[in-house]
Amino acid sequence: MSSRLIFWISNSVRILLVAMGTAAACYMWGTVIGLLLGILAMASLVLVQLFYLQRLADWLDHPTSSRLPDGWGAWTDIFSRLYKLRRGDEKNQTELTEWLARFRQAMTLLPDGVVIMDDVLFLEWCNPAAERHLGLSLTKDKGMRVTNLVRSPEFMDYIILGRYDTPLTLSFRDRKLIAHIIPFENRRQILVTHDVTESERIDMMRRDFIANASHELRTPLTVINGFLEIASLQPDLDIPTRNAHLKLMSEQGERMQRLVEDMLTLTRLESMDHLLRTESINMRGLLEQILQEAHALSAGRHKITLDCQGPDIRGSTDEIRSALTNLVTNAIRYTPEHGEIQIQWCNAPQGPKFLVIDNGIGISPEHISRLTERFYRVDKSRSRETQGTGLGLAIVKHVLLRHNANLFIDSVPDQGSKFAVQFPPAIVIDA
Ligand code: ADP
Repeated sequence: MSSRLIFWISNSVRILLVAMGTAAACYMWGTVIGLLLGILAMASLVLVQLFYLQRLADWLDHPTSSRLPDGWGAWTDIFSRLYKLRRGDEKNQTELTEWLARFRQAMTLLPDGVVIMDDVLFLEWCNPAAERHLGLSLTKDKGMRVTNLVRSPEFMDYIILGRYDTPLTLSFRDRKLIAHIIPFENRRQILVTHDVTESERIDMMRRDFIANASHELRTPLTVINGFLEIASLQPDLDIPTRNAHLKLMSEQGERMQRLVEDMLTLTRLESMDHLLRTESINMRGLLEQILQEAHALSAGRHKITLDCQGPDIRGSTDEIRSALTNLVTNAIRYTPEHGEIQIQWCNAPQGPKFLVIDNGIGISPEHISRLTERFYRVDKSRSRETQGTGLGLAIVKHVLLRHNANLFIDSVPDQGSKFAVQFPPAIVIDA
């Protein structure tokens, strides 16, 4: 039954009862007393209604569901309906607040900047990423014009032209941003910023790498092409000259091969999906192998010693061999004849350590921080003379990074260098 019907029935019944009571009183005690009693009963009915109306008015002033008054008659139904409405309201409110909090948190965690502005670009709200990208502060800058805060001619032009369908590439405070304005509602606009500084840097590195690699490959190719041209123009070249040309061509071919192999190694090490496959490495066996190769490369021109006291470790044998061999061959290549090279493997509280100490040509301090950059060489011609690709230390850096190890370089020009690799203690295989 509808509440409205209950309300009318219950009130009509009360009025009917009062009327019947009045009629009965008139019959029993006379018209005057009967009517007086009837008026009194009606007045009390009205007073009760007024009382509950007052309580309703009080509650509406401070509407909390806990203070909702109890009712009588039809008022019970009214109050219980109000109570349900109130509960529903409170539930909606709580849901809305929770949703807003979730939305705010999502906006806070968003790596992209979001700025909400009104139609004349006054700042209404922004997330922390926008604060970082554009140097804004929501607490201080709220209500200020965004064009006064983001002082950039490119940004001003973008706003003036109003071609918001294409994003803007913006250089702002050492950052490269992609900014995009999206109008929404009738009188609001969202500015979204995406930081591309890191990807631009990687792109630049890639471009540099390709340019350097092409340059490195061009020299041997030019030499080979030159000799091939001579051979085709002078078919009756004497045998010793022809053999000398063939020898030089084969040297250049080998140089290209070393370069390509080093580039492939670097690319493999850098690719994210190339996961480190660890195995136990017998360090004594590995270092003795490296020592043998060092003797072969030196061909008796240096005194090379090995002191192996350290433990076996867990890692990629191929990668560790490649990194340590690079350091040892560098020591041989950059140490003149009769020089000394010490290879050491020891353990320390901070983890096992690999050392290569030479008394070779040494390196000036200004070069040391750049040695692990690809194709960085202190002396280009010397590196080429000794068959260097300029990628050896870059490979070492990547291998060490993948094994949580660090490279330390100490060097004094004309006195020698010390290359130390510090491995973490966790890499040690317990005996
Ligand atoms: P490269 O193939 O040219 O040797 P690396 O990346 O292995 O390339 O080394 C970078 C540069 O660091 C070398 O060109 C050389 O100038 C310098 N270098 C490396 N090891 C030594 C060393 N033991 N003594 C002196 N210079 C060194």
